[in-house]
Amino acid sequence: MKDATRCVRHSESPLDGFASLTVPTYRASTIVFKDAEEYARRKDRGPDGYTYGMNGTPTSRTLEAQLTELHRGERSVILPSGQAAITVIMLSVLRPGDCVLIPDAVYPPVRNFCQNYLASLGIDHAIYDPVIGARISESLNDRVKLVWIESPGSTTLEIQDVAAIASAAHAAGALVGCDNTWASPLLFKPLEHGVDFVMEALTKYVGGHSDLLLGSVTVSQWEHFAQLRATMSALGFSVSPDECSLALRGIETMAVRITHVGAVAERIARRLASTFSNLEVLHPALPSFKGHELWKRDFEGASGVFSIVLPRSVGSRVNGALGSLQTFAIGASWGGTRSLLAPMSVEGERDFGPYGDDRTIIRVSIGLEHEDELWEDLHQVFDVLRE
Ligand SMILES: *Cc1c(COP(=O)(O)O)cnc(C)c1O
Repeated sequence: MKDATRCVRHSESPLDGFASLTVPTYRASTIVFKDAEEYARRKDRGPDGYTYGMNGTPTSRTLEAQLTELHRGERSVILPSGQAAITVIMLSVLRPGDCVLIPDAVYPPVRNFCQNYLASLGIDHAIYDPVIGARISESLNDRVKLVWIESPGSTTLEIQDVAAIASAAHAAGALVGCDNTWASPLLFKPLEHGVDFVMEALTKYVGGHSDLLLGSVTVSQWEHFAQLRATMSALGFSVSPDECSLALRGIETMAVRITHVGAVAERIARRLASTFSNLEVLHPALPSFKGHELWKRDFEGASGVFSIVLPRSVGSRVNGALGSLQTFAIGASWGGTRSLLAPMSVEGERDFGPYGDDRTIIRVSIGLEHEDELWEDLHQVFDVLRE
């Protein structure tokens, strides 16, 4: 063998005696085959098989398998972001002439995707009241092929009756997809409540360190998995093994992180509600919260994300008050080690419920800093805004 050839041929290191606790990061675009015949039959390997790097490597398969187990599902796929996971589900299920129902408190880019992209393909959407429960049947008809659920809802945390919506949807011939990013599979398993597609933004609690973007879809039926893989392949969606590797590291500590941030967030939410009577604290564990009973029925606990609705009188003073923050950072996304505040308003984005006006809503994501310092930060901000 000449040296130029030797340069491109790595010797194989035997794995005998090497046992590590980590998942290797396998990189590949090309997958090589034993012979021409096997290459010719590569499609026979099916949606689980390795045929081209686009369809995954053992690194992404390991993450898929772990999510499948956590969700008690049949198969999972990994997408480049949570938003990509949502759009791939919708593009897999919906065809021109179909309609998708989305809840009023849906993650805002989903509403955008329906309005500005699906509409141009001749796919309609309708927005429903997230707390509608079994009365969703009144909005179902032959054209509705997918009912989307997100519980709790983005920013305003409405809890949905997933089982009631899923059974009404199935009775009317529609499939059901659920964004489970707030809960993660540790606190809620939508497939066990009748959902067909559960989606996670792995960017949040699985990643856990604000340094990666990934999404996943887990399904309860093989056919849905095959259809998702076909859509991903047509659209050219694939993920880097490095991102999967970070997610595989993050998921190892997810249970302790969620337990911790959930407990701290709940204590802080209770303290805020009892200390500042001018604030409306939206946290499902508070008995005053509208969806509290439903949340108790379905969820194993609460994660570290909740919201605070400020009184209108606060107006634009909120930005100045947030200038005193020492521990919280200001920013979107959540689920990382750093605690975040995201001041926002859902004005013009709500057709139902009491929050669609111009009040400021602060979304809180609790991270891993000391609870006392987090409380001091929030106390200082809301004390300034008391009057
Ligand atoms: C962040 C988020 C998404 C999107 O995830 P990305 O990975 O940022 O695209 C979807 N749904 C919910 C509820 C989210 O919080």
